[in-house]
Formats: sequence, C-alpha cells, structure tokens
Amino acid sequence: MSRFRGMAPVVVFASGILLGAAQIAQNVYTQDMDRSVKPGDDFYRYANGGWLKAVPAERTSYDTRTILNEKTGQRVRELIQEVAAAQPGRERGKGSAAQKVGDYYASFVDESGIEAKGLAPLAEELAAIGTIQDKAALSAYLGGTLNSEVDGLTGNADHIFGVFVNQGFAESKHYIFHLLQGGLGMPDRDAYLDASPKMAELRGQYQAHIAAILKLAGVAEAESKATRILSLEIRMAQAHAPDADAADVFKQNNSWKRAEFGIKAPGMDWGAYFKSAGIAAEPDFIVWQPSAVTGTSALVGSESIELWKDYLRFHLIEHYSSVLPKAVGAEDFAFYGTILSGAQQAPERSAGGIAATNAALGQVVGQLYTQRYFPAEAKAKAQAMVGDLITAYRARIANVSWMSPETKKKALTKLASLRMGVGYPDKWIDYSTLDVARGDAFGNLRRAEAFNRSYNLAKLKRPADPDEWRIDPQIVGAVIVFTPNTETFSAGVLQPPYFDYQVDAASNYGSAGAGMAHEITHILDELGNIYDEQGRLVHWWTAEDAAKYHAAAAKLAAQIDGYCPLADLCVNGKQVLSESSADLAGLQVAHDAYVLQLKGKSDMVIGGLTGEQRFFLAFSQRWRKNQPEAALRRQIKTDTHAPGEYRSDTVRNVAAWYKAYEIAPSDKLYLKPEDRVRIW
Ligand SMILES: [Zn+2]
Repeated sequence: MSRFRGMAPVVVFASGILLGAAQIAQNVYTQDMDRSVKPGDDFYRYANGGWLKAVPAERTSYDTRTILNEKTGQRVRELIQEVAAAQPGRERGKGSAAQKVGDYYASFVDESGIEAKGLAPLAEELAAIGTIQDKAALSAYLGGTLNSEVDGLTGNADHIFGVFVNQGFAESKHYIFHLLQGGLGMPDRDAYLDASPKMAELRGQYQAHIAAILKLAGVAEAESKATRILSLEIRMAQAHAPDADAADVFKQNNSWKRAEFGIKAPGMDWGAYFKSAGIAAEPDFIVWQPSAVTGTSALVGSESIELWKDYLRFHLIEHYSSVLPKAVGAEDFAFYGTILSGAQQAPERSAGGIAATNAALGQVVGQLYTQRYFPAEAKAKAQAMVGDLITAYRARIANVSWMSPETKKKALTKLASLRMGVGYPDKWIDYSTLDVARGDAFGNLRRAEAFNRSYNLAKLKRPADPDEWRIDPQIVGAVIVFTPNTETFSAGVLQPPYFDYQVDAASNYGSAGAGMAHEITHILDELGNIYDEQGRLVHWWTAEDAAKYHAAAAKLAAQIDGYCPLADLCVNGKQVLSESSADLAGLQVAHDAYVLQLKGKSDMVIGGLTGEQRFFLAFSQRWRKNQPEAALRRQIKTDTHAPGEYRSDTVRNVAAWYKAYEIAPSDKLYLKPEDRVRIW
C-alpha cells in the first residue's frame, strides 16, 4: 500500500520516545543516557546510549512505534476481552458500547459456532447471484455491493469499485461521491501484468487459490472457472491506472456528471447500478481512475453473465472468509498470508478478533479506550500545546525569508484554518442503529458493513464536516488530511513515552510537540502547497517562492549528505530533504512554543537537567531505534526519512541547543552560526 495517495489521508506518525511518568520522577534519564559521551560530540548516543545498550539484541527495529503499538495493543485486547466476558445486564446493557464490542469479539472467536453453520450464512447471497440473468440484473447486483471499504488509504476494493465520500477538490462545503478502482484479488496491477517469471508464478498460485475456494463452496468445474476468473481480472488490471497515476491527485480529479457514465463508460447499466447503490439521484461524481471505470464497464458489457457470476461467487466467499469455517480461512491464509506476505503461521484467532472488532466498531472501541486511558485532562493538555505550536508557527512565518508577503498571508490563513484533532473526536459516530448479536459473526460483519456504507452515503445529504476523524482513537498514529485541511493525533499515540499529560512540559514539547510541528509544516511545505486552506486543489506558492525555498533547503541537503553511517554508504540529502526540513522546522517551532508556555518563568530542574536540556533530550530520545545493518541500509536507500540518529542531529542547527549543553567549537557536532540552517 502506498504511503501517500493524493488527497487521501497520510499516516505519518514518526516514532518518538520518552519515559513514563513514574520513571521520570525517579530520574530515569540517567539510565537511558550515556553520560560518558559528550553531548557535543554525539548527541544521539549521549541521549540514548544507555537505552541502546539495554535493548535485547533480538528486538530489532525496536523503537517508539513498537513500544506504543505493543502497549496500546495490549490495552485494547484486555478491554475488548473484558467486555466480552462481562455479564449481560448491568455490566453491559443491550445496545451499549460494551455489549456491541463484547458480542462482536465473542462471536468472531467462537470458532465452533462458525464451524457448525458451515457455508449456510452465504446461501442467501449465493442465491441472489444465481438469479442474475441479464446485464441489468448484473449491474444492479454490482451496485448493491458498492461499499465504502476504501477511504483513499486502502487502494483496491475487493468489489469492482470503491466509494470514498469526501469533500470535492474544487468545492469544500459539500460531500461528493468519489469513485475508485477496485475488483482485483491481488494487491496491485503489476501482479497481473508484470511478465517476470516471479509474477507469472504468483498468478499461477492465485489461480490455484481461486479454484480451491470455489471447490470449498462446491462449485463444479472449479479449475476451468478459475482460469477464466483470473483472465477477467487481468483484463480489469489492464484498465487500472498505474500506481503512480493512481496516487497523483491531479490525475484523480475527474468530474463526471451522472449522465456521462453511459457515454464515457458504456457496458454497465448505470441506471440499475446507481439505483441499487442507493444513489440514483446523485448528480456529481469524482472518478479517480477513469480508465478503470471505462474498462471495467466495458467488461460488464462484453463478458458472459456466467463468467461474472463465477467471479462474484469467488469474491463473495473470499470477502467473508474471516467469518466462515476453518477450511476457508486456512486456504485464504495459505495464499494471502504465506504466499503473498511470507507469514509461516496464521495469527491466533483472538488477534484476528481484536482486529476485526476494531475494524467494525472503531469509534465504539475508541470510546471505551479513551474513557479509561485518555481523560479530558489529557486532551486539554494536548490542545493547549497545539495552541502554543500554532502561535509559535504564526510568528515564525512572519520571518521566513523565502516567502513573498502575499504567500505569507496565504500561509497564515491556512494555518488559522487548520483543524488539529487530538486524542478523540469531539463528536462520536452514533452506532445506535447497528445491531450486534452474540453468535452471529457473519451477520455482525454484514451489518457493520451496511452501517458503514449508509453512514457514508448519508453524508452526501449534509454539509462537509472538517472535524470528521479518519483514524480511531485507539490506533497508534497521526493522520494528515489535505482535503479538508486537518491533522489528527490519536489517543493511542499521545501517551508515554511520546506524550505524558501528567508530567514535564519540556519533554512533551520536545517529543510530541516537535512531532506535531513537523506535521503542521507539511500543510505549508511542498506537500501542502497544492491545497489551499479549505483543502481545494490550488497551488498557492509562487514560482519565485519555490525557487527560493529550494535554494534555502539545499544547504540542509548538503549537511545531510555528510552523514555516513557505513563506510560505503551515506545518507542522500535530496532524498530525505522534505522530511528533514519538516524535522528542522518542527524542532524550531516546538522550541519557540516551549518558551512561550513558560510565560517568562524559568523551568524547574529535574534529575539534574534544566528544562532546555530536557527539551532537546526528549527530541533526541524520540528517534532512538535498535536497527540491524541490513535494515539501516534499506532505509538509507529507499526511505524519505533519514535514520533516527541524523534526525536527532537536527539539533545542530538550533542556537538554543548550543546554549543548553554548552557546545564548544571543538565539539564534533558544532556548526558555525553561519552554517546552521534555517528554512522556516
Ligand atoms: Zn513528515
């Protein structure tokens, strides 16, 4: 899955680390640091040397993200299992969050109950496919399965098209229906079209998987049907947009009127399709990949009804494999788990249950999670920090050297209209109409999908809400959405060691504060330059701004080119420039904000460290990572982020760091004032 898909949300959490509240009180900094290293010679090892030595060798690629994921994962698991075990009645009344979550999970992990039903839960849907006799009925069936499982983050719906209900590219006040390509059982177009022997082998394995699934469902002539289904998907893949185009927001921005579908994409009975999808009256669409809509529609027209019915049977079983008998799940894992992902062992059923419950009832689990782990006080602290960051950023923009006065005005407008969500949404989704029944794993999934779909389609009737959340609070992560202009930091990420509402502001501003300011930078930098303050597709830098920006940034790229962790390999400054530039701005803005919130008072000393020292220490500690050489090499060659050590070295550009640690010209990290970079 590509990390960046045009206007789609970008999951951006960059790992951070500090230590927990109790530990800070006991001055654990000394334990994590290596005070034998001079901060001015190697700040990363001064800040993290103790921790790096203490990480067990087998915990490779161990960093803050891992720590937070493990901690939150454990909490969510306990929470869900606790409500699943609670007694009906007072502990979890019918329709309550606890009942829905508990029963969803309990039904999912009830393997014997699922086994006993066999494929009976599919009977109704299989019968519906069986009755399809003509193209109108086929189109109606396809429209009825149009679902909202895609959100721009997930690339390929397992139905021929996916829907994403979001504001438009040119108009921000209303929701509009975005239609996305889909329909492929393998992850992307290349898996179908690449001529290499490896991909040819994969196609053979996929075809065998299709046959195996059809056999499990008792479909006759499974082998020959699998051949034809694969060939249909290959032709669909030929119509799909290549990955680079699919991710290019300017190529996604195609307005189609409802009446144009029949002309631009003949083959499908679009009247039947949209009526069945429940949007017969919808006049406007944005078609992200027109070639896929045209190509797939043509295949609806040209291919036999019987082939389409076999295709639909296969994908129906595949889609629900997680709530069908073991044999189906095992076959599914053999292809998707082992062949495609290299996993040797299927995850435990309970892990699947937690993931499925989170997926179906995201904000319901989120409510339970935040009630326990992210109190209003935590949200208030995070919001106050956001306020300081925005104030600091505003002042900084006034002094940016490369932006014209006109562009600065636009940057300030964009900053002012940015919606920063922290912890959990102010308004929760109302799940009261979603019925979750104990012992009905299949039905629960069906109803959750239907709920999700009608929730999304209902948005078409109301004004766009920029405060809508795209990430669940219990997920460890942060999301930038450019359309609309929003960023969200979940409760899952805003916890120790990244952010601790109960302790030291200096540490919070140095870690989570710098992380937030990094992400705010992206709404203003080259990534955000193509979206205005309402998320409409508009270039707002001038050509001259861009030229001056690149000149200012080149100095940072040159600095980074000098980082060579291996004898034969240096970091490529250009490759990581956008992210490193956001790191630098993030650190500078967070420091300004830290000073702001002191309101002229001096900070206390904790563990022998001043506030200024803890601020920079926290910044460095968020970048620690136990990484084997092969992973480091891979990161340097492919990642747009520099290795953690060099992200930590961003401090070299900030005057306050020199003062805080009394860095001398003889120190290895020392830069002459004129060599320190400032872009923002
Ligand atoms: Zn970034």
